[in-house]
Amino acid sequence: MASHIVGYPRMGPKRELKFALESFWDGKSSADDLKKVSADLRSSIWRQMADAGIKYIPSNTFSYYDQVLDTTAILGAVPPRYGWTGGEIRFDTYFSMARGNASVPAMEMTKWFDTNYHFIVPELGPDVKFSYASHKAVDEYKEAKALGVDTVPVLVGPVSYLLLSKPAKGVEKSFSLLSLLDKILPIYKEVVAELKAAGASWIQFDEPTLVKDLESHQLQTFTSAYSQLESSLSGLNVLVETYFADIPAEAFKTLTSLKGVTGFGFDLVRGTKTLDLIKRGFPSGKYLFAGVVDGRNIWANDAAASLSILQSLEGIVGKDKVVVSTSCSLLHTAVDLVNETKLDKELKSWLAFAAQKVVEVNALAKALDGQKDEVDLFMHFLYLKNDRITLAGNARGRGGEGTRYVVAFFSANAAAQASRKSSPRVTNEAVQKAAAALKGSDHRRATNVSARLDAQQKKLNLPILPTTTIGSFPQTMDLRRVRREFKAKKVSEDDYVKAIKQEINKVVKLQEELDIDVLVHGEPERNDMVEYFGEQLSGFAFTVNGWVQSYGSRCVKPPIIFGDVSRPKPMTVFWSSMAQSMTARPMKGMLTGPVTILNWSFVRNDQPRFETCYQIALAIKDEVEDLEKAGINVIQIDEAALKGGITNCGVADTTQIHTHMCYSNFNDIIHSIIDMDADVITIENSRSDEKLLSVFREGVKYGAGIGPGVYDIHSPRIPSTEEIADRVNKMLQVLETNILWVNPDCGLKTRKYTEVKPALQNMVAATKLIRTQL
Ligand code: GLN
Ligand code: ZN
Repeated sequence: MASHIVGYPRMGPKRELKFALESFWDGKSSADDLKKVSADLRSSIWRQMADAGIKYIPSNTFSYYDQVLDTTAILGAVPPRYGWTGGEIRFDTYFSMARGNASVPAMEMTKWFDTNYHFIVPELGPDVKFSYASHKAVDEYKEAKALGVDTVPVLVGPVSYLLLSKPAKGVEKSFSLLSLLDKILPIYKEVVAELKAAGASWIQFDEPTLVKDLESHQLQTFTSAYSQLESSLSGLNVLVETYFADIPAEAFKTLTSLKGVTGFGFDLVRGTKTLDLIKRGFPSGKYLFAGVVDGRNIWANDAAASLSILQSLEGIVGKDKVVVSTSCSLLHTAVDLVNETKLDKELKSWLAFAAQKVVEVNALAKALDGQKDEVDLFMHFLYLKNDRITLAGNARGRGGEGTRYVVAFFSANAAAQASRKSSPRVTNEAVQKAAAALKGSDHRRATNVSARLDAQQKKLNLPILPTTTIGSFPQTMDLRRVRREFKAKKVSEDDYVKAIKQEINKVVKLQEELDIDVLVHGEPERNDMVEYFGEQLSGFAFTVNGWVQSYGSRCVKPPIIFGDVSRPKPMTVFWSSMAQSMTARPMKGMLTGPVTILNWSFVRNDQPRFETCYQIALAIKDEVEDLEKAGINVIQIDEAALKGGITNCGVADTTQIHTHMCYSNFNDIIHSIIDMDADVITIENSRSDEKLLSVFREGVKYGAGIGPGVYDIHSPRIPSTEEIADRVNKMLQVLETNILWVNPDCGLKTRKYTEVKPALQNMVAATKLIRTQL
């Protein structure tokens, strides 16, 4: 049985590509340096897959920035404002589209399906002159071939490319993106012809949009596209790959009837119903690429479970037609567990990053060939030299060098699965019970919001149009250093507390001078709004190199939630009450909500997501109640639970719960916001006024306080008093004076004091001016 990998992370095990890119962008290294680092990364990935025994190894899954932008480059669909005049697209044009340049802003970026990866959205209009302007796919195929690796070149499929595009400015209403199909197919044909000439025997088209709910004319476009490509594709094996969800029945029918296609790839991890579709009918003689190894998380595969799925598929499509694969590109998982020096061995045995997943895919394929018992696998990807002891029980060393082990893969895998199931580190009965006991009534506060706001106002005595900020204040180099040194135990706890206290005091005094009404402590003790809480909750683990690409050179290092979540002790009460003791004004407690924590973490796969979410919510709820007990009367929960306000249902009417969100698409989530039952909602707004109008109206009906950001903190620009007053006046045309709050868009952590001080000064001045006019 054969093995296949949909795609692989580009960043490198230690983010080599990130550093090479940023150094090139800063003018510190040459284009050749960047190309060299990239070629080395590609060749090591290809070799690694070839060594592991993978049959279908992808190429052109590397990218200097983004695979959709690469496709835009292939098609020569450069928006005119970048001044490209034809020929092969080079770094300057490519990176200008990605990041903007001195005179032109970047193209829009948006989330890649429901992942945390972002792609560059193609902008297409009726006048785009497509031309074959990037030979990257062919170059990479040849590059691998020269290294002795015959790869499967991967292209973003033509229909998904169009469906993921947006109409260029000015043609929004009148224009159908799919009408461009006939114009882009000739370029695809050129690429295919070159790949064929270079010796490719397979080609992979990624068409993930097939998992969306498409209309029939959109599905017809797939049929039409592949019929038109059929003759060019003859002589090639063609894989159309889907991922991220179940494929709807109609789309499945369309897909499996496509002309000229030899194999179909499915995500069988998120797509559990797809299995039924396959069972009901799969075209005979075609290949099924079965994505059983999860590309989106960091958990070791349950090999026994995967084997039984694969065996049942063999029964349907035939033994030589099932190919073991990943559920999607491994781009969405961390790179290599080998570099995790801080995780303990037990936890590591439960995990598999991209490099380990490659080994898993191969092991499953070998096992299906009936070699399960005798096939011992080289597990040098999985284990480090110093892990020798763990493996002693089931490893039979070969090669003597110490870096290579032959392990009975399946017994090791089964042992790890069993230890994960029974570990007391994973299961905490008290937490399970508390989460199970959560009733509907726990999700809302007993009194309605208007009555609560009245009770709070009696206690807080705030002026009309109260001013506040979202939480963080500028993080100076000194601050980052003291935090780092404390973590490294180079600074004593006493000295650390002193330093942070001093910082909080500075921030409190500044806000008093500025005459802000509801203060914050500035979050100087936090490096990251999720990590800070994860580190204090049990059930979380942190990696040192578990980076995942977010966009371009930016990566995130999500915490791993491996066990039931509980809060051993209060997390923020110490700092918040210290800050409150410094001022007579109300001090906002500052927490991160459970959905944000969940969405920014690798979540366990052995219980439903919502259960993990409830557990985090209960931990945050305990924190809210402890803050209340400590005399904190205003508490903000950043991007709090979208489904029900579990976190804040236990507080007194007089305790004011704020929630802050920095989404831009509120229309979708307004009802969830209302369900959260907060007293005041502060939201990012400065970039999208009109869109928020409907939200405001809902808010009015609902009665909560609303603080739409009055200026953009993402820009160094200092807004004038008039400009802010103008914004507030506009908001007052829609909102009642008694519910409007005045605050910036988001936290001030990335700004400098020289920007923050005058901006806040103007914000307060604008507010005072309007108060006098009311
Ligand atoms: N309280 C956080 C801060 O001010 C909120 C950050 C966010 O919404 N992204 O930094
Ligand atoms: Zn924000």
